[in-house]
Amino acid sequence: MKIAIYPGSFDPITKGHLNIIERASKIFDRLIVCVMVNAEKNPMFTQSEREDMIRRVTAHLGNVEVDASNELLANYAQRKGSCVIVKGLRAVSDFEHEFQMALINRSINPQLDTMFLTAEHEYMYLSSSVVRELGSYHVSLEDYVPEILIDEVTKRINKANSK
Ligand code: ADP
Repeated sequence: MKIAIYPGSFDPITKGHLNIIERASKIFDRLIVCVMVNAEKNPMFTQSEREDMIRRVTAHLGNVEVDASNELLANYAQRKGSCVIVKGLRAVSDFEHEFQMALINRSINPQLDTMFLTAEHEYMYLSSSVVRELGSYHVSLEDYVPEILIDEVTKRINKANSK
Protein backbone atom coordinates (compact mmCIF):
# COMPACT_ATOMS: atom_id res chain seq x y z
CA MET A 1 0.00 0.00 0.00
CA LYS A 2 1.41 3.38 -1.03
CA ILE A 3 0.98 5.90 1.76
CA ALA A 4 1.83 9.58 1.16
CA ILE A 5 2.03 12.50 3.56
CA TYR A 6 0.92 16.02 2.59
CA PRO A 7 2.36 18.34 5.26
CA GLY A 8 1.67 22.03 5.76
CA SER A 9 0.50 24.78 8.06
CA PHE A 10 -2.99 25.02 6.49
CA ASP A 11 -3.61 28.31 8.32
CA PRO A 12 -6.31 28.07 6.90
CA ILE A 13 -6.74 25.41 4.18
CA THR A 14 -7.28 27.01 0.75
CA LYS A 15 -8.70 25.84 -2.58
CA GLY A 16 -5.07 25.45 -3.71
CA HIS A 17 -4.36 22.98 -0.90
CA LEU A 18 -7.61 21.10 -1.58
CA ASN A 19 -6.72 20.81 -5.26
CA ILE A 20 -3.40 19.16 -4.36
CA ILE A 21 -5.16 16.82 -1.88
CA GLU A 22 -7.75 15.72 -4.46
CA ARG A 23 -5.09 15.03 -7.08
CA ALA A 24 -2.72 13.23 -4.68
CA SER A 25 -5.57 11.08 -3.31
CA LYS A 26 -6.00 9.64 -6.82
CA ILE A 27 -2.31 8.72 -7.06
CA PHE A 28 -1.81 7.07 -3.64
CA ASP A 29 -3.73 4.37 -1.75
CA ARG A 30 -3.76 6.49 1.40
CA LEU A 31 -3.01 10.18 1.89
CA ILE A 32 -2.31 11.63 5.33
CA VAL A 33 -2.77 15.41 5.45
CA CYS A 34 -0.67 16.51 8.40
CA VAL A 35 -0.91 19.88 10.12
CA MET A 36 2.69 20.56 11.09
CA VAL A 37 2.75 22.25 14.45
CA ASN A 38 5.76 24.53 14.55
CA ALA A 39 6.64 26.21 17.83
CA GLU A 40 8.24 29.13 15.99
CA LYS A 41 5.13 29.96 13.98
CA ASN A 42 2.25 31.86 15.46
CA PRO A 43 -0.80 30.63 13.53
CA MET A 44 -4.11 32.51 13.32
CA PHE A 45 -6.16 29.28 13.53
CA THR A 46 -5.63 26.77 16.33
CA GLN A 47 -4.35 23.29 15.56
CA SER A 48 -7.76 21.73 16.17
CA GLU A 49 -9.54 24.36 14.03
CA ARG A 50 -7.12 23.65 11.17
CA GLU A 51 -7.54 19.88 11.50
CA ASP A 52 -11.31 20.17 11.72
CA MET A 53 -11.56 22.38 8.61
CA ILE A 54 -9.40 19.94 6.60
CA ARG A 55 -11.56 17.00 7.79
CA ARG A 56 -14.74 18.72 6.65
CA VAL A 57 -13.53 19.61 3.17
CA THR A 58 -12.01 16.17 2.56
CA ALA A 59 -14.96 14.16 3.91
CA HIS A 60 -15.78 13.06 0.33
CA LEU A 61 -12.34 11.48 -0.11
CA GLY A 62 -12.37 8.02 1.44
CA ASN A 63 -8.60 7.47 1.44
CA VAL A 64 -7.65 10.81 3.02
CA GLU A 65 -7.04 11.17 6.74
CA VAL A 66 -6.07 14.18 8.79
CA ASP A 67 -3.48 14.34 11.53
CA ALA A 68 -1.24 16.84 13.31
CA SER A 69 2.35 16.52 14.44
CA ASN A 70 5.20 18.45 15.95
CA GLU A 71 7.67 15.74 14.99
CA LEU A 72 10.43 16.08 12.43
CA LEU A 73 8.70 15.32 9.12
CA ALA A 74 11.22 12.64 8.08
CA ASN A 75 10.64 10.77 11.36
CA TYR A 76 6.88 11.25 11.21
CA ALA A 77 6.79 9.74 7.70
CA GLN A 78 8.82 6.74 8.84
CA ARG A 79 6.54 6.16 11.84
CA LYS A 80 3.50 6.24 9.52
CA GLY A 81 5.05 3.75 7.10
CA SER A 82 5.17 6.34 4.32
CA CYS A 83 7.97 6.83 1.83
CA VAL A 84 6.54 9.81 -0.09
CA ILE A 85 6.03 13.44 0.88
CA VAL A 86 3.70 15.38 -1.42
CA LYS A 87 4.32 19.10 -1.97
CA GLY A 88 2.61 21.69 -4.11
CA LEU A 89 4.80 23.95 -6.24
CA ARG A 90 3.37 27.34 -7.12
CA ALA A 91 6.27 29.27 -8.61
CA VAL A 92 10.02 29.24 -8.94
CA SER A 93 10.12 31.02 -5.59
CA ASP A 94 8.77 27.87 -3.87
CA PHE A 95 11.37 25.72 -5.54
CA GLU A 96 14.62 26.55 -3.78
CA HIS A 97 13.27 26.08 -0.27
CA GLU A 98 11.36 22.91 -1.21
CA PHE A 99 14.39 21.44 -2.97
CA GLN A 100 16.50 22.04 0.14
CA MET A 101 13.83 20.49 2.41
CA ALA A 102 13.51 17.45 0.14
CA LEU A 103 17.26 16.83 0.26
CA ILE A 104 17.41 17.29 4.03
CA ASN A 105 14.47 14.93 4.58
CA ARG A 106 16.13 12.35 2.37
CA SER A 107 19.42 12.64 4.20
CA ILE A 108 17.62 11.97 7.49
CA ASN A 109 15.47 9.20 6.07
CA PRO A 110 16.99 7.73 2.85
CA GLN A 111 13.75 5.82 2.11
CA LEU A 112 11.87 9.09 1.77
CA ASP A 113 11.12 10.76 -1.56
CA THR A 114 9.39 14.08 -2.19
CA MET A 115 6.92 14.37 -5.04
CA PHE A 116 5.96 17.78 -6.38
CA LEU A 117 2.60 18.50 -7.94
CA THR A 118 2.37 21.74 -9.89
CA ALA A 119 -0.26 24.18 -8.69
CA GLU A 120 -3.35 24.61 -10.85
CA HIS A 121 -2.93 27.88 -12.74
CA GLU A 122 -5.87 29.59 -11.03
CA TYR A 123 -4.33 28.89 -7.63
CA MET A 124 -0.75 29.83 -8.47
CA TYR A 125 -0.85 33.01 -6.41
CA LEU A 126 -2.95 31.60 -3.61
CA SER A 127 -1.55 31.06 -0.13
CA SER A 128 -2.98 31.00 3.38
CA SER A 129 -1.37 34.37 4.05
CA VAL A 130 -3.19 35.86 1.01
CA VAL A 131 -6.46 34.52 2.46
CA ARG A 132 -5.72 36.03 5.89
CA GLU A 133 -4.77 39.35 4.34
CA LEU A 134 -7.72 39.64 1.93
CA GLY A 135 -10.10 38.53 4.69
CA SER A 136 -8.84 41.30 6.93
CA TYR A 137 -9.82 43.81 4.19
CA HIS A 138 -13.28 42.21 3.93
CA VAL A 139 -12.67 40.92 0.39
CA SER A 140 -14.96 37.97 -0.48
CA LEU A 141 -13.07 34.70 -0.01
CA GLU A 142 -15.21 32.64 -2.41
CA ASP A 143 -12.44 32.17 -4.98
CA TYR A 144 -9.88 31.17 -2.37
CA VAL A 145 -11.44 29.06 0.37
CA PRO A 146 -13.64 25.93 -0.01
CA GLU A 147 -17.30 27.00 -0.05
CA ILE A 148 -18.36 25.37 3.24
CA LEU A 149 -15.65 27.22 5.17
CA ILE A 150 -16.13 30.75 3.81
CA ASP A 151 -18.39 32.09 6.58
CA GLU A 152 -16.40 30.57 9.37
CA VAL A 153 -13.00 31.65 8.02
CA THR A 154 -14.28 35.19 7.35
CA LYS A 155 -15.68 35.53 10.89
CA ARG A 156 -12.58 34.07 12.44
CA ILE A 157 -10.27 36.48 10.57
CA ASN A 158 -12.45 39.43 11.63
CA LYS A 159 -12.36 38.24 15.21
CA ALA A 160 -8.57 37.87 15.18
CA ASN A 161 -8.19 41.36 13.70
CA SER A 162 -10.53 42.99 16.19
CA LYS A 163 -8.31 41.96 19.12
P1 ADP B 1 0.99 28.40 2.60
O1 ADP B 1 0.98 28.96 4.01
O2 ADP B 1 2.10 28.94 1.74
O3 ADP B 1 -0.32 28.45 1.93
P2 ADP B 1 1.38 25.64 3.64
O4 ADP B 1 2.57 25.49 4.51
O5 ADP B 1 0.07 25.47 4.33
O6 ADP B 1 1.43 26.94 2.77
O7 ADP B 1 1.48 24.69 2.40
C1 ADP B 1 1.52 23.31 2.41
C2 ADP B 1 1.89 22.81 1.04
O8 ADP B 1 0.89 23.21 0.10
C3 ADP B 1 3.20 23.32 0.46
O9 ADP B 1 3.79 22.26 -0.28
C4 ADP B 1 2.78 24.42 -0.48
O10 ADP B 1 3.72 24.62 -1.51
C5 ADP B 1 1.48 23.86 -1.00
N1 ADP B 1 0.58 24.89 -1.46
C6 ADP B 1 0.14 25.97 -0.77
N2 ADP B 1 -0.71 26.71 -1.53
C7 ADP B 1 -0.81 26.08 -2.73
C8 ADP B 1 -1.51 26.35 -3.94
N3 ADP B 1 -2.24 27.45 -4.07
N4 ADP B 1 -1.38 25.49 -4.97
C9 ADP B 1 -0.58 24.41 -4.83
N5 ADP B 1 0.12 24.09 -3.73
C10 ADP B 1 0.01 24.92 -2.69
